Amino acid sequence: MPPMKHLAALLALVAAGFGHAPAQAQDEAQRPPNIVVILADDLGWGDIGANGARLIATPNIDRLAAEGIRLTSFYAGANVCTPSRAALLTGRYPIRSGMQHVVFPHSDFGLPPEEVTIAELLKDAGYKTGMVGKWHLGHRDEFWPTAQGFDEFYGVPYSNDMQPFDLYRHKTVVQSPAEQRELTDRYAAAASDFIARHRAAPFFLYYAETFPHLPLAVPEAAAGQSGAGLYGDVVEHLDEGIGRIMAALEANGVADNTLVILTSDNGPWFEGDQGAFRGRKGGTHEGGFRVPFIARWPGRIAPGGVSGEMAMGIDLLPTIAALAGAQVPQDRTIDGRNIGKVLMERAPSPHEVLFFFDGNDIVAVRDRRFRLVLSTFYRTFPVPFERFGTALLFDLERDPMERFSYLREHPEARDRLMAHVAAMRKEVAGLRKEPASPFPPDDPTIPKGPVLSHH
Ligand code: MG
Repeated sequence: MPPMKHLAALLALVAAGFGHAPAQAQDEAQRPPNIVVILADDLGWGDIGANGARLIATPNIDRLAAEGIRLTSFYAGANVCTPSRAALLTGRYPIRSGMQHVVFPHSDFGLPPEEVTIAELLKDAGYKTGMVGKWHLGHRDEFWPTAQGFDEFYGVPYSNDMQPFDLYRHKTVVQSPAEQRELTDRYAAAASDFIARHRAAPFFLYYAETFPHLPLAVPEAAAGQSGAGLYGDVVEHLDEGIGRIMAALEANGVADNTLVILTSDNGPWFEGDQGAFRGRKGGTHEGGFRVPFIARWPGRIAPGGVSGEMAMGIDLLPTIAALAGAQVPQDRTIDGRNIGKVLMERAPSPHEVLFFFDGNDIVAVRDRRFRLVLSTFYRTFPVPFERFGTALLFDLERDPMERFSYLREHPEARDRLMAHVAAMRKEVAGLRKEPASPFPPDDPTIPKGPVLSHH
């Protein structure tokens, strides 16, 4: 350590020991950033102005992008809700935590308590942790957000098309059924309140919007505003909620020391815009996985950045852990990588390849240039190309829309990517499990909805 720096550190120590004001300034400068992760539900890559939307106005999201960096090749950790959220919070491909399938109200499984979430890591690092919005990782005591590292929870247990659909504070129902038109406003108010109460401590806020997942709903005043029907109104209202959260960060003087990340849990469903990519939610192509990603952190992330480096939801845990000075779990495989340098130094992706799972199966894999698709859907049935001795090899540089296969031209790319697939398949071979049926069982003794022991 250079002598001057050494002296400064010593002085700071002395000052801290006597509780003088300079220590406060020192703490302020070295304090880890607050973290706000905004996760929209089924928001398409092309649904935001920053990614080219013309029929939907998202000024608040666009402002985040203008003041931060936008990753154009960012992927959700899965093509549907539950596994994508498990991937985001644990840094692991969801099959590793047994969360490769969607949780339904009659399901009795959830994110295993032994999994380590971002909230648990940050709580141990001295953060106040709060979650607002849609959980969808199990609705029994041991799976509930407050058992998975969150000090506070305000939101709903799963998707808004599932029944019963109640709004909770911690473990108490505060509205039954939840009034869907009010949800975004209530979420934004709860998030603003959390920020105000914890402005003095480093905090982690996981804000998981219910929308634009179906059914769509907006307050009367927000209806008929967009050029994209009710869907567009819902996205515009969601954007307004994000504006309120940003205003709360500013009003509480913490906007500059807060890393705000915005993304989505999978591609768009029956409405919405997946951008110039093939496929949608639930599919195996780019449109099912590639989602908006913006990160804003003034002074640390240069404004107006755009990067095409590939990254995935699994990267949030290692990235956030590094910023908070927390160590990622060493006793298990973490598939995500720290993308801090991608965001702050415009570094290349730390990933050699990314895998795309549909439930138990690896359905695609990509490297910098190529995306090998091993399975797709035609009408209602899966088309396992491999069983026919083939695959589709897309060149994302030449044809990001995945229209033409270059298997004949690049057999070496196929072989290279298949070697990765073979290795990963071996790793997760014992972890397959049957998906739950979306239909409630006839058995009336099987509870539907949350089962919580105390309030
Ligand atoms: Mg979703």
